[in-house]
Amino acid sequence: MKKFVYSFNEGSKEMKNLLGGKGANLAEMTKIGLPVPFGFTVSTEACTDYYDQGGALSDDIIKQIDEKLVEIEKVMGKKFGDTKDPLLVSVRSGARISMPGMMDTILNLGLNDEAEKGLAALTGNERFAADSFRRFIQMFASVVMGIEMKRFDEVFEKIKEKAGAKFDVDLTADDLHEVIVEYKKIVKYGEEGGFPAEPRDQLLEAVKAVFRSWNNDRAILYRKLNKIPDEYGTAVNVQSMVFGNMGETSGTGVAFTRSPVNGENKIFGEFLVNAQGEDVVAGIRTPKPIEEMKTSFPEVYDDFMNIAEVLEKHYKDMQDMEFTVERNKLYMLQTRVGKRTSAAAIKIAVDMVNEALIDKETAVMRIDPEQIDQLLHPAFDEKAEKSAKVIASGLPASPGAAGGKVYFTANDAEVAAEKGEAVILVREETSPEDLAGMVAAQGILTARGGMTSHAAVVARGMGKCCVAGCSDIVVSEKEKTMKVGDLTYVEGDSISINGVNGNVYEGLIETVTPELSGDFGTIMSWADGIRTLKVRTNADQPQDARQAIEFGAEGIGLCRTEHMFFEEERIPAIRRMIVAENEDERRAALSALLPFQKEDFKGIYEAMESRPVTIRLLDPPLHEFLPKTDEETRALSEQIGVPYEKLVQATTDLHEFNPMLGHRGCRLAVTYPEIAEMQTQAILEAAIEVKTEKGYDIIPEIMIPLTGIDKEMEYVKNIVVEVAEKVKKEYDSDIKYLVGTMIEVPRAALTADEVAKSAEFFSFGTNDLTQMTFGFSRDDTGQIIKTYIEKGIFKEDIFQSLDQTGVGKLVEMAATLGRHERSNIKLGICGEHGGDPNSIEFCHRIGLNYVSCSPYRVPVARLAAAQAAIINKEK
Ligand code: PEP
Ligand code: MG
Repeated sequence: MKKFVYSFNEGSKEMKNLLGGKGANLAEMTKIGLPVPFGFTVSTEACTDYYDQGGALSDDIIKQIDEKLVEIEKVMGKKFGDTKDPLLVSVRSGARISMPGMMDTILNLGLNDEAEKGLAALTGNERFAADSFRRFIQMFASVVMGIEMKRFDEVFEKIKEKAGAKFDVDLTADDLHEVIVEYKKIVKYGEEGGFPAEPRDQLLEAVKAVFRSWNNDRAILYRKLNKIPDEYGTAVNVQSMVFGNMGETSGTGVAFTRSPVNGENKIFGEFLVNAQGEDVVAGIRTPKPIEEMKTSFPEVYDDFMNIAEVLEKHYKDMQDMEFTVERNKLYMLQTRVGKRTSAAAIKIAVDMVNEALIDKETAVMRIDPEQIDQLLHPAFDEKAEKSAKVIASGLPASPGAAGGKVYFTANDAEVAAEKGEAVILVREETSPEDLAGMVAAQGILTARGGMTSHAAVVARGMGKCCVAGCSDIVVSEKEKTMKVGDLTYVEGDSISINGVNGNVYEGLIETVTPELSGDFGTIMSWADGIRTLKVRTNADQPQDARQAIEFGAEGIGLCRTEHMFFEEERIPAIRRMIVAENEDERRAALSALLPFQKEDFKGIYEAMESRPVTIRLLDPPLHEFLPKTDEETRALSEQIGVPYEKLVQATTDLHEFNPMLGHRGCRLAVTYPEIAEMQTQAILEAAIEVKTEKGYDIIPEIMIPLTGIDKEMEYVKNIVVEVAEKVKKEYDSDIKYLVGTMIEVPRAALTADEVAKSAEFFSFGTNDLTQMTFGFSRDDTGQIIKTYIEKGIFKEDIFQSLDQTGVGKLVEMAATLGRHERSNIKLGICGEHGGDPNSIEFCHRIGLNYVSCSPYRVPVARLAAAQAAIINKEK
């Protein structure tokens, strides 16, 4: 019989895939002798089996659970349903990759009328037992039976009112028994198809419910956001209960071994006295900082600090721990590698190398390249922030700065964001149902909850600015208002929040790009020492080029010259060129453009100093430069002195049914060689002038777009070379230059050896190559691709992450063929994929020389390239 169920003493941290992260770590803590309440894990394979069986537990699984129940009773010396000392368990989900708050948890399972008596007898606290029972009914009914919480809340409130109780704690045991009687009616307690009174039945139902919760909406959304495969499944952990709510000597908490916010090497956490498990995470009560445990639980504080240290040393990474103190005895309920902000990730990685806990490669592998993005995002302009009006202040739960209009439900936030509004989602506290709204928002503000509350954890994971536990504000979801003292903010009012200092401001505040910390530089320099791929940038403006250099770009991989044409002074000239009736007119218009192009290129060369620069000849279909509306056409007619009718005719003539497959790329140079001539002249003259003036070592790389056949390449190259040589002669310069091509058309990839006869370099234009290989329009198919992803046909957006199987095959083939023909051919990628970590790994693997991406992606690419080198070295 296949093994589906494992006791905590049968597993280890290496068994994550089978036991889920939580189960594997509970087993590991048990193995190293930490105080873990005993239990067992139903494996992820059981989850797969449950779905294979059409949503049922097989006899084998049930049999193994039954065996483990006997074992747990034996180890704990307690029995389910015992009237003196009943065994109670928690049932929690635990996937391979942690998905905080996304799936369901049930506490106090095993309670029924008898066990309630047993719990009362054991604790001498009838009220506690009754309260535990009613909470259990409520949780089970909601999670397993899908009954709305509201129905219980109504009963509870009514009885509270009748008893004249202000707070929940004011209810007596008798009051709570009255609650239980009413709850039992709602859940049909003990009836066929109703709430099972037998603990074993409760457990089997709960296990099934956890398996089901793998496919609830929020878990599915979380998986999609975090790229977790649907087929992983979740494990279920069944663990004997310990109680943090047994009075003043009990409590529960969550702590990180280092700060998950800024990485400081100091324990960071919160706890609540006399509270049960989820109370801290749910943000229902605002907890106390962990240091105060010293006074609240002096007997266990040192134990806890010691365990934290043991765990961090054992795992060699920052740990996120959950614990409970039951009558002055400490129990560990969970440990896992803690989620952290990117700033914290960097500091922790650098510190741990300095502490000799990990090596540099491990440190580089610890940083998620996508997270780096967060660091490069704007903060508030200091001056503007100082003069802004602070209206409230809360906990700085996730760094960053955000401003926008306030919305009070996840749905409203989503709708507003879809309309293009910047949104701050304001909630009393967030719950996993708010996930989509949090994704849509620029920032999140909550009135309640601590640094480890749902809002804080999720926002940090997303790299989204969040201020939590802002008790200065009173939020009304119903009225859609937020009150601060006498002030009332309604839906649509603008506020700004600072996730670093916790401040909330009225209105919007200007933002700036932050300075990067020294640790960031350290990690990046380690990454640079490891990677073999070079990182260039796609830039067409000197200021973008300078920004990219600041981020570590080593050259320009793609300068799209057409972007320079769109500026106000140039567009009339290019339009005149387009509507020219003959070559002479066209040449005249192009000469007007020449000085502009030359100045642009000089600006770029100056910014890049001696770094390589690839400049692409004009690529887009010409009609893109013509006016779109009748009004604009009339204005243009006046501006350039060309009759209106002629302009209309030109627009009609240039109309194409498939412009992306039409008159563009090198086809422009073939039909109008004078365009390529003017551009080559500008490129060479600019390079020679800057080289002479500044002494930079410039070797222009002239790139021909959209080549499909070697003859095209040859034809355009000849034009380029002829002009270049002429310029060199005029300037009496011996400047070197390269002529290469983009590989964007599948035919060029298939015949890359032939193309390489005249191309001195290839740059893979994977935007067009993906478009043409798939036959999916890059401009029109966003919605289709979304549907394809939803339906599992595509794993990811093919225009963001390279399709390695298909498009990648062409890229690899072209690289091999190209090298075969020309051993020193330079190979790079400049499609959007050049900034995507998975695609970068692919580029490393097939031996490209460089990737090129937008300036803000450069650090991401540097890190991803280093990780690619490490991963492939290990392979
Ligand atoms: C490409 O096609 O990948 C490319 C970089 O060119 P563009 O995006 O300008 O078409
Ligand atoms: Mg292209």
